[in-house]
Amino acid sequence: MELSKKIAILAESAKYDVSCSSSGVQENTRQGKVGSTEVSGICHSFTPDGRCVSLLKLLFTNACIFDCHYCINRKSNHIPRATFTPQEVADLTMDFYMRNYIEGLFLSSAIIKDVDYTCELLIETLKILRHEKGFRGYIHVKAIPGADEKLIEKLGFLADRMSVNVELPSRESLKLLAPDKNPYALYKPMKQITETKKAQSYLPAVRKGPSFVPAGQSTQMIIGASPENDRAIVKIAENLYGKYELKRVYYSAYIPVNNDSLLPAVTTEPPLLREHRLYQADWLMRYYKFSADEILSEDKPNFNLYLDPKANWAVQNYEQFPVDVQTASYDILLRIPGVGPKGARNIMKARKYYRLHLADLKKLGIVIKRAQYFITCNGESVSGLIHDPEWVISSLISSRQYETLKAANTQSLGEQLSLFDVERFEHTKNKELAYGN
Ligand code: SF4
Repeated sequence: MELSKKIAILAESAKYDVSCSSSGVQENTRQGKVGSTEVSGICHSFTPDGRCVSLLKLLFTNACIFDCHYCINRKSNHIPRATFTPQEVADLTMDFYMRNYIEGLFLSSAIIKDVDYTCELLIETLKILRHEKGFRGYIHVKAIPGADEKLIEKLGFLADRMSVNVELPSRESLKLLAPDKNPYALYKPMKQITETKKAQSYLPAVRKGPSFVPAGQSTQMIIGASPENDRAIVKIAENLYGKYELKRVYYSAYIPVNNDSLLPAVTTEPPLLREHRLYQADWLMRYYKFSADEILSEDKPNFNLYLDPKANWAVQNYEQFPVDVQTASYDILLRIPGVGPKGARNIMKARKYYRLHLADLKKLGIVIKRAQYFITCNGESVSGLIHDPEWVISSLISSRQYETLKAANTQSLGEQLSLFDVERFEHTKNKELAYGN
């Protein structure tokens, strides 16, 4: 098969994988606008020093022997199949690199023949790139769960980042929707990567040798293909960050591609807002010191789709506000909607030298429009505010959303509910859309 045909087939098969930051986006060129993005081809990722790099995104093969219900490449689908050779992937990467189109490679693969064989093909590809072609650019490669530990180790010494996708948020869903995958095998390479990295970090510099997965590991979860609530997903992410020191958990709104009775109908819209809320919650855990239990409780296990998780936490815990920004600790400042880590640091620094006034806060990077409901500044607060959480919610969301929400609550549940119950309504609605009941 010609290389161009293989590229076309495999690009189509790779487009639902979002383990790289921008790979889920498609934006065509428009008159008067500059730039376009493709769901496959070149995507972006972040190196350990925070640089954003362009990566050539390739799927090694789509000739999968597994039959995951949610996947376009499952063996029971009748789609064109193709497989690159290691040499072809290495040549393509170098061609793009030499033309300055990319700074690295993002390589994933379906399972061809068996897990070890697939892993060996990926190793062979990276060996050609690193040893024969001298490629020192960034490589993100998918680990193949179930492959021999020695193979995972070899792959890890050739790559900068590895991802081990947990795919679905529970063992039950995995068993049901990915019957060929062993849920326990998924976590094994994660553990191996964490332990090998740790062992290497204890070695003296002269004995370190080549770095093992220097940019760490990441994972991806599909959202909306299975019935787990938002809290369950956030808890898993928290656990993965803590236990395996993951760099990133990616969430991928489920895009229905197969007609399958176990899955939402193909006409179902991907739950993009839910995905967005998960990323916001993820951010809160990584940079704002929130725990999963604070973001979502057992009583309210789903996101409020009208309020971001931080604002939602603040109105649910309104008794902890207002906070005086002149005296609050850094950790408390971080809890205020509209105050980020940089704003909190600026406040801490500025107040060493002078007494703050409300008028100073904007210059310090605080989003007053959001923060005003939750702060005082040396006892001073924005005039005209009502210290009532329901009033705050209605002020934080747009008037159109507010009206829709009120009407929907009344209509759907036959009673005028508190706005605190908004997530109850939204989740019921989403479930109905997703599962058709
Ligand atoms: S292993 Fe499952 S998810 Fe991965 S390509 Fe094969 S069918 Fe798709």
